[in-house]
Amino acid sequence: MTSLTVTDTIINQARSEGRSLLSEVESKNLLVAEGISVTDAQLAKDVDEATSVAESLGYPVVMKIISPDIAHKSDVGGVVVGLADSNELKSAYEEMMTKVTSVASTARIDGVSVQSMAEPGIEVIVGATTDPQFGPVMMFGLGGVFVEVLKDVSFRIVPLEPRDAKQMVREIDALPILEGVRGQEGADLQALEALLLSVSELIERRPEIAELDLNPVFAYSNGAIAVDARIVLDSQDGV
Ligand code: ADP
Ligand code: MG
Repeated sequence: MTSLTVTDTIINQARSEGRSLLSEVESKNLLVAEGISVTDAQLAKDVDEATSVAESLGYPVVMKIISPDIAHKSDVGGVVVGLADSNELKSAYEEMMTKVTSVASTARIDGVSVQSMAEPGIEVIVGATTDPQFGPVMMFGLGGVFVEVLKDVSFRIVPLEPRDAKQMVREIDALPILEGVRGQEGADLQALEALLLSVSELIERRPEIAELDLNPVFAYSNGAIAVDARIVLDSQDGV
């Protein structure tokens, strides 16, 4: 008999609750188990749990709202970065709960995620969606306005070959920013290619993952790490 993997357990848990959306914490736990580099996030159900997670991680930390009804956490005041000590964390917690419950009054709140603060890097986006015609498709681009306003992204059909990953990273218009401009250090393009290949491999192996967003990934001159993650499972109807 084969034993259940972490990924099976997380997917089964969501299925048993009739959910297709995994929380940031579940998405990241799954990705860690699959060998993908993320800022490891832990769920805290109240301010005391949040403080003890922060103590164990070491400050500074980042705190985010965890709710099945909130997709864009920062839009509702649900992300605070750079919390330097327990006093800052406690007041940020109270403030976040007040803000979120006033902006999103009907949202169910599971708690907050507490995670280490990553060093700033070049923000990129790695995504996977299911196209009705082509099936699983991967997307890559630079974060923020580059994706949202300029639509400067590259796409490839899963599974990716190493050559596809190389092209995806290099064919966006914003490539000079990744390569480093005006004395700014560039990004580790090989680490981004490796990340694209790992996500493609995961999507191929786990067809029940309908959507996967790493938004953003911080790209460094050496390595890259996802600081936000969102996974959506396919709906089981008709499967
Ligand atoms: P949203 O649901 O709004 O997309 P994110 O988790 O992406 O929330 O957080 C918003 C922003 O906060 C990110 O784009 C990133 O700039 C910053 N951020 C999030 N997590 C971290 C982290 N662990 N370390 C440093 N910065 C972070
Ligand atoms: Mg995000």
